[in-house]
Amino acid sequence: MTTNNKCVLIHYGELSLKGRNRADFEIRLIENIEKIAGGRVGRHRGYFVMEGGDSSLLIKVPGISWYAEAIVAENDPETIIALIRDEVGRMSQGPAPSFGVFARRPNKKFPHTSMEFARVVGDMVTADYGFTARLRSPDISIFIEIADKTYIFFEKKEGLRGFPVGVSGRVLSLISGGIDSPVSSYLMMKRGCRVDLVHFHVFAENAALRSTKMDLIFRRLNEYQRETRVFLVPYYPFESSLLRLTGAAGHELVLFRRFMVSVSERIALRNGCTALVTGDSLGQVASQTIENMSLVRQAVSLPVFQPLITYDKQEIVDYAKKMGTYELSIEPYKDCCSIVSANPRTRARMDRVLEFEKCMKIQDVIGETLDMVTLCQL
Ligand code: ATP
Ligand code: MG
Repeated sequence: MTTNNKCVLIHYGELSLKGRNRADFEIRLIENIEKIAGGRVGRHRGYFVMEGGDSSLLIKVPGISWYAEAIVAENDPETIIALIRDEVGRMSQGPAPSFGVFARRPNKKFPHTSMEFARVVGDMVTADYGFTARLRSPDISIFIEIADKTYIFFEKKEGLRGFPVGVSGRVLSLISGGIDSPVSSYLMMKRGCRVDLVHFHVFAENAALRSTKMDLIFRRLNEYQRETRVFLVPYYPFESSLLRLTGAAGHELVLFRRFMVSVSERIALRNGCTALVTGDSLGQVASQTIENMSLVRQAVSLPVFQPLITYDKQEIVDYAKKMGTYELSIEPYKDCCSIVSANPRTRARMDRVLEFEKCMKIQDVIGETLDMVTLCQL
C-alpha cells in the first residue's frame, strides 16, 4: 500500500451551525488545525480531510468533535472491499477476534445502502478470515464513510468539541499561579474565544517571569490557540500604596481585585478585547462571596465572565489535569494574592472601599501601573 491514500478524517459539531456562522466556523477551524497540527486541510461537505501534519495534536484543537486516521478510496464497492480485505488481513494474526462493520453513506449516489454494504463487507470478513460478527463492543471496528470519497478507519478519536478559537471574539483572562484561572482561560478558548492573558506579579521586572512556572503555564495554554498574547503587570505600585494605607485591614483583597480588573479593563480596551475572564468559583475563598464579587465587578464596565462559578474544586482539578496545567499550578510560586490576603473580610463595604481607594489615589496607581505593562507574544 502506498502512503498517499492515507489521511485524517475530521468531523466537527455541525448541528449547532447555521447560515453564515457555518462558513466562519469552518474557515477558522481549518486555519487553527493547520496552525496547531501542521497539515494541509481540505474542506468537504460536512467534514475535513487533513494530509500530512501531526494528528496527535488534533486533540488540542477546539471545535473538532472526532477524528480518525483513515484510508481513502474512490467510491467503488470492489476497491473498498479489496482495501478492507488487505487491512483486516494485516490484523488477523492470532485467535479469531470479533468484528463489527459500521457504514455511513452521506453520498446517496453510492449503489448500496449503508446497511447492505456493511453486510457485504461483513460477509467477506467472515468468509475470508473466519472472524465473528458482533456489533456490541467488537474487538475490531471497521468504519466506512461513503462521502465525496470513501474513508475506511478502525478507530474514532474524541476531539475537544466546542467552537474554533476566534469565532466568538477576543477576551482578556486574568491568570494567576493557581489551579483555577488556567482552566477558566481554557474553557473560554473552547467556547471559541481568542484568549489574551494578563498576569500580575510580585517581581521588579516583567522579564523575571521568564524563568518561572508562569511561563510554562502560558505555553501550555498556547498549545490550544497559538500566538497567545500575554500582558505582564508588576503589582508593586499597588503594594506600596497599600502599605501607606491605615485602617484597611480585611479590605486588601477586595481592593487588590478591583485594582486588577481596572488595570485589565484598560488593557482590554486598548487591545481589542471585549470582556474579562476570571477563575472565580462561588464561595471557594473569602473574596468569592457574592458581596465581594459584586464589589469587584462594579469597578469596571466590561462584562466579566467567570466560567467556573458553579464548579467545585475537584471538577476544576479534573479539568486542569486533563488539559495539562495541574502539575504546573501546584508548583510553589510567590503569587500576589498570598501576600495581600492575610485575613480577608467576607463582606467588604462599598463606602469603605471607595474611601480607601481615594486615600490610595488609586487612579494614579492604575496609571503608573499601566505604564509598566509589557506584552509578550508567544
Ligand atoms: P486561581 O486558582 O485562579 O488563582 P483562586 O481560587 O486562588 O483562583 P483568587 O486567588 O481569589 O482565587 O483569584 C480569583 C481570580 O482572580 C483568579 O481566578 C484570577 O482570575 C484572578 N487573579 C488572582 N490573582 C491573579 C494574578 N496574580 N494575576 C492575574 N489574575 C489574578
Ligand atoms: Mg489564586
